[in-house]
Amino acid sequence: MKSYEKLLQENKDWATGKLAVDPEYFDRLAQLQTPEFLWIGCSDSRVPANEITGTQPGEIFVHRNVANLVVNTDVNLLSVLDFAVNHLKVKHVIICGHYGCGGIKAAITKHDFKHVLNMWLRNIKDVYRIHRNELDAIENSEKKENRLTELNVREQVFNLAKTSIIQKTWKAEQRPDLHGWVYGLKDGIIKPVFEMKAGTPIDELYEYDDL
Ligand SMILES: [Zn+2]
Repeated sequence: MKSYEKLLQENKDWATGKLAVDPEYFDRLAQLQTPEFLWIGCSDSRVPANEITGTQPGEIFVHRNVANLVVNTDVNLLSVLDFAVNHLKVKHVIICGHYGCGGIKAAITKHDFKHVLNMWLRNIKDVYRIHRNELDAIENSEKKENRLTELNVREQVFNLAKTSIIQKTWKAEQRPDLHGWVYGLKDGIIKPVFEMKAGTPIDELYEYDDL
């Protein structure tokens, strides 16, 4: 059996197992999607949103990209955000980074990763620049990466708050709360590192007063 064929076989076994426990499982799930959470995580295969949070299909709306970035020209992410906030009406948006992130490690180097990856990693280098004094003072490279991972999550939460999508819903409905978390590959534990409740004042430079 080829490796990808195993996935299809495992899928059949999984579906059969679900139906054995609950014959209505898929009928119910197909009719209703009302997740309370939008998860913006890293694409890293070791950080599966549902599994590490003990949630089931239907509970978390998920977007993943390299190093869990919120880039203000990323139509893909903004479409997910718009849909989750305005149509699914999620109450919480979670940015979840992780220690040992390849994207963070790569952004600290001076290596040329070629065209598109260089563009993407530039966003992380910009986070480093904002916090240069603090990060330059950390000599241990793993500790430096870990701190950049935390600061990156915090900046991405700010980036969410800068969008008119979030500001408009904060004003009208006092939701969603924004959370910045970091997952530990070594212990499996998620550490909350930053939070912005709905309506938290932001730098007025980014504030829209006529939404
Ligand atoms: Zn990663």
